[in-house]
Amino acid sequence: MGKRFDTKSVHLSKINDKTINSKSTPIYQTSAFKFRDLEDMENFYQGKNDYLYTRVGNPNTDELGEAVAQLEGAPKGVAASSGTSAILAGILAVAKQGDHIVAATDIYGGTYQLLAGELADLGIEVSFVDFVGSEQVADHIKSNTKLIYSESVANPLLRTEDIASLAEIAKQHQLVLMIDNTFATPYLCRPYESGADLVVHSATKYIGGHSDVTAGVLAGRADLIDIANQKIGNLGCNLSPFEAWLTCRGLKTLSVRMERHVKNAQQLADALKENKAIQKVYYPEHVSPQGNGAIVSIDISGLCSIEKFFQSLDWIKIVPTLAGVETSVSYPAGTSHRAVPEQARKKLGITEGLIRISVGIEDAADIIAGVEHALEESRHKQG
Ligand SMILES: *Cc1c(COP(=O)(O)O)cnc(C)c1O
Repeated sequence: MGKRFDTKSVHLSKINDKTINSKSTPIYQTSAFKFRDLEDMENFYQGKNDYLYTRVGNPNTDELGEAVAQLEGAPKGVAASSGTSAILAGILAVAKQGDHIVAATDIYGGTYQLLAGELADLGIEVSFVDFVGSEQVADHIKSNTKLIYSESVANPLLRTEDIASLAEIAKQHQLVLMIDNTFATPYLCRPYESGADLVVHSATKYIGGHSDVTAGVLAGRADLIDIANQKIGNLGCNLSPFEAWLTCRGLKTLSVRMERHVKNAQQLADALKENKAIQKVYYPEHVSPQGNGAIVSIDISGLCSIEKFFQSLDWIKIVPTLAGVETSVSYPAGTSHRAVPEQARKKLGITEGLIRISVGIEDAADIIAGVEHALEESRHKQG
């Protein structure tokens, strides 16, 4: 019987060790798996045994890949050592030297570096395009284009992508559509169900959820996941069993965490829209019936001292990441988008006064009071 999302995320374990009967999945902290005899070894290569060597496959990493695939509604998934390596494996499953990728301009800074730096060095050409209206994308497609790459909710200005129209264009031109779903999570958005071929996650963020693990997952079309899986083994960017286990542990509470994250973020965004110390509040609308995400960005340019704001945060942590259970703030111009050239950054609206708030699962009133206090302390006094 098909289970609903909240139930699936809790009951994701496929591993059932009949000899020990542990309730939670054991950690298979092993670099290799033993064989009884040569026939048993041969069975691995015939596809009858699952495991040989952890770099090319491990029950814990498989559990994570399959669990995220299930939540995304995709046939198959694979885990990798980070979001970045999952992105790399997904891209290399589709594009090689001489091929071309069309990517959104406002993608995560690290992904921008991967595409514009590393992949360009490998001879994979990339065009960066503002995906506001899909005609723009079609204009950039060439005879060697293989892949369209974007994010369901982009960072830090929280632009939402029209995945169904992108999928339409990808289909017309026989291209693969790959979507980074890190910010939305499958709780809010399921790009595969809207026609994307590959969905990627930095599981370092909401999937893990506790800021204690670096991991990535790629889910999507089975033929592409099989190739990506091989790439992960060949490149050695497999996830460790313990990190996979921790990430699966986090995934079980994805629904309840997201429910609170999103509720708190909506309340914070609503409160800050009334605040005179802010130029602009960025918080998307109509992302999904479950809510609009857990990240709120604010621009305080000209109204507050950015240094003073960060000094006045009290219990709210300053960290260059997001999506933990604790509320934290980051400074995109100084961290996630540091690598993006200043000109491009300005064009994207990532000003020197932009602050990204990753809203945690604490009491919403405390979060609002904490941010409002920092704004009050840092506000330029009128003469
Ligand atoms: C963090 C992040 C990544 C990179 O993930 P890592 O796990 O740090 O490699 C990619 N995309 C988005 C949207 C992210 O937030």
